[in-house]
Amino acid sequence: MNTKFIFVTGGVVSSLGKGIISASVGKLLQARGYRVTIQKFDPYINIDPGTLNPYEHGECYVTADGMETDLDLGHYERFTGIHTTRGNSVTTGRIYKAVIDKERRGDYLGKTIQVVPHITDEIKHRMRRLDDTQQYDFIITEVGGTIGDIESAPFMEAIRQLRWELGRDAINLHLTYVPYLRAAGELKTKPTQHSVKEMQSMGIQPDILVLRTELHLEDGILQKVASFCNVDRDCVVQSEDLPSIYEVPVNMQRQGLDAAILRKMGMPVGETPALGPWRHFLTLQQELTKVVRVGLVGKYDLQDAYKSIRESLSIAGIYNRVKVKLEFVNSEEITEENVAEKLAGMDGVLVCPGFGQRGIEGKIVAAHYTRTHGIPTFGICLGMQMMVIEFARNVLGLSDANSREMNAETNHPVIDIMESQKNLAQMGGTMRLGAYACQLVQGSRVLQAYAGQAAGDAESPTVISERHRHRYEFNNDYRTQYEQNGMDCVGINPESDLVEIVEVKQHPWYIGTQFHPEYTTTVLNPHPLFLDFVKTISQ
Ligand code: GLN
Repeated sequence: MNTKFIFVTGGVVSSLGKGIISASVGKLLQARGYRVTIQKFDPYINIDPGTLNPYEHGECYVTADGMETDLDLGHYERFTGIHTTRGNSVTTGRIYKAVIDKERRGDYLGKTIQVVPHITDEIKHRMRRLDDTQQYDFIITEVGGTIGDIESAPFMEAIRQLRWELGRDAINLHLTYVPYLRAAGELKTKPTQHSVKEMQSMGIQPDILVLRTELHLEDGILQKVASFCNVDRDCVVQSEDLPSIYEVPVNMQRQGLDAAILRKMGMPVGETPALGPWRHFLTLQQELTKVVRVGLVGKYDLQDAYKSIRESLSIAGIYNRVKVKLEFVNSEEITEENVAEKLAGMDGVLVCPGFGQRGIEGKIVAAHYTRTHGIPTFGICLGMQMMVIEFARNVLGLSDANSREMNAETNHPVIDIMESQKNLAQMGGTMRLGAYACQLVQGSRVLQAYAGQAAGDAESPTVISERHRHRYEFNNDYRTQYEQNGMDCVGINPESDLVEIVEVKQHPWYIGTQFHPEYTTTVLNPHPLFLDFVKTISQ
């Protein structure tokens, strides 16, 4: 069979959840036995989202092969369990850079370089590139932004051309919004009609429409949208607000979205898959009664800034039969005087990743408080580094211990930059990124946690692989001192000998990871450390 392409676009307003719809479509097709991948094209000029402040686009997600990407790739992986790669995330900046580099090399032989055809050709090339591996039956391409944005226009032109070239092997799924006007007591389809008209003016006729709505849409409305927009009635579905994003695939399946896609592409529809484990997960989620509270100590008070951590905790909670209530605690406001009050009633604390000075002293104070009060604590990346600094200052007696990132002159850089990283002036693309191996130490809590997840044969994994995104490292010069005083280095990179995990044994749960375990949690495969952390706090 030829590879099939599904282009997902959005209209009317942003934040409708194109990523969730793309991930849901991926999930449903995968459940039918198809090999699926999902890629994201973002119309901004940044080369990648790595240098973006989380307030701009939420967290930066990292793929196993070390690409810093949009957070939607996290949804794709959590929903489908697929591993995305560098090829799954493309920005306008990267497209232009590729074209300009080619121009400088003289590859265009003196031609005038234009948006059409050179930029659009580069977009088309990258939209099809994952197909080179012949690994996929379906390639779902989500295009960021909203129809009508100036930035999106070259992407729309590329989609128009590809649809023309690929015929039935390519379709467009357009996600729009049906607002409810309270004063009139009516649901309005006009914005959707306009959005579809706008697409038609660009030469693209949507095949499938998904209508985002806060209230249930009666059949008459769907019928009206279908006939006004030249779309088959069975190709118009609604995506109502649901209590959990993980209910979206089931809701889409109930309305036959995957069947409509297959019909449109001339493929056999067959039986509807049962989605057993997925439904089991939803049932568990709906049955939760017990609540545990986790303090998220970080500096960004924004849902999306720690997206994968939030999802990892709540998924781990569901498997532990508890609802994890996440409470953001601004690390910039934590002081020794108020820490007890700020963390009062927390069953556990997660010290968040991050970059730069702001809020780090608050993280250190929090780590001190939770270590000395037996409160289960999970430190991730910068969070782990702050646990290490706190331990140096308060247990090892190195009162000016710090990370070289925060104080280049410190006498005790317990977190330091590696030799090979020194002298790098550029910010983008200079980090340790992507998956690295980590050897777990016998007798450690983390080994037990990972082993607890090992499948039936009980062969516990002593070497794991986890994703990184940082410049600074635990300084091995201090390793013996830490171990002699109760903070053990229990995860070690077998090639570089870098410390990847620390834990304090004399504590109910005090573990810091230099890597980001949150990137590899999926709905059907929750991460062992999150499971173990939540298990501890829910007992
Ligand atoms: N700023 C720290 C470093 O670069 C930690 C990064 C992070 O938390 N992702 O090492």
